[in-house]
Amino acid sequence: MHVLVCGAGLIGVSTAYYLAGHGHEVTVVDRRVGPGEETSFANGGQISPSHADPWASPAALVRIVGWIGKPHAPLLYRFRREPALWEWTARFLANCTGARFQRNSERMLRVALYSLETLRELRAATGIDYDQRESGILHIFRSQEAFDAARRQAERVTALGCPRLAVGRDECVAIEPALADAAETLAGGFHCPDDETGDAHKFTLALADRCRDLGVRFYFDTSVSMLSRRGNRVVDVRTTDGPFRADAYVLALGSYSPLIAETADIRLPVYPAKGYSVSLPLRDAAKAPVSGLIDDERKHVYSRLGETLRVAGMAELGGFDTYIDAARAGYIRDSATALFPDATDPAAAEFWAGLRP
Ligand SMILES: Cc1cc2nc3c(=O)[nH]c(=O)nc-3n(C[C@H](O)[C@H](O)[C@H](O)COP(=O)(O)OP(=O)(O)OC[C@H]3O[C@@H](n4cnc5c(N)ncnc54)[C@H](O)[C@@H]3O)c2cc1C
Repeated sequence: MHVLVCGAGLIGVSTAYYLAGHGHEVTVVDRRVGPGEETSFANGGQISPSHADPWASPAALVRIVGWIGKPHAPLLYRFRREPALWEWTARFLANCTGARFQRNSERMLRVALYSLETLRELRAATGIDYDQRESGILHIFRSQEAFDAARRQAERVTALGCPRLAVGRDECVAIEPALADAAETLAGGFHCPDDETGDAHKFTLALADRCRDLGVRFYFDTSVSMLSRRGNRVVDVRTTDGPFRADAYVLALGSYSPLIAETADIRLPVYPAKGYSVSLPLRDAAKAPVSGLIDDERKHVYSRLGETLRVAGMAELGGFDTYIDAARAGYIRDSATALFPDATDPAAAEFWAGLRP
């Protein structure tokens, strides 16, 4: 079968790899000059099944209200006259009940554990290198109240086969010695030894090379404008390079998938949540974290990627712009510098913004 994959981000390239491995003829189209140039470019780098909790939860409502008006709030809601945003918000709110949270977190955990297993098999089969580290992720808490409140979900996730183990302040420092200076500010943490970190862009580039070895054809600088539909079937995909026909089509355009799906009257409940990352070159590796870290209070994630410390966070709901708000991105950089003084060179920080689908 000939399959056309629209989108060469992490998802499109991974899909192409598995389809080609199963003997299909695969073509990939993307509007950028190469693979992984949009959301898969500089994300937080965390492979964290232990944190596959849905954002929609009873606690989220209380937290979001508390963040209103705060300039460095982890989540910003920019009110717009946009039906897609309202529809997404209505679905989000409907999923904030305790029962839905439980159901959704169990479903997400199953997918996440399956993905982790698949990633490990893929790594063994291909030998690709993407600055991966398999040394777990430490989730730190500064507030005792928040730490205590997180225990129940940690126990549930652990019972479902994904260890999220409570550790005290001293154990946090033993796991992550670079936290020594901040020890006094910590209430405790959860250690998730099965989690990993890695560079999503490097992963996507390396896997795209393996795809080419398997005969996958890539067309870059090719923008998809619509799906042509006849009855229940998509018959071709219209692009700036003319129509592409295949036996089956995969839509992997990240946050843009709903816009293209809509041209064939298909509605997808996906909306972009803009986030920022800051990549800080290491100055003194001994003072930087050895693996992954999550700072619960600020909702910032840290990943050690080669000679770089990647820090990511913030979620802004309000359209498709990838404008970098200097104050918000700067807050992420400053938080990293405060937590790991002298580890990195803040003057050489690289800022990025992307749209989480
Ligand atoms: C700040 C931030 C931090 C994150 N941290 C993490 C993390 O730590 N761990 C984690 O698992 N996830 C994280 N994510 C989420 C993760 O990065 C995304 O889920 C993932 O990259 C999405 O991959 P994708 O292939 O679906 O989308 P994309 O990478 O966006 O790929 C979509 C592709 O489609 C192409 N495209 C779009 N529209 C068109 C069109 N009309 N025509 C042709 N091509 C088109 C784009 O060029 C792009 O290459 C983070 C995201 C952000 C923003």
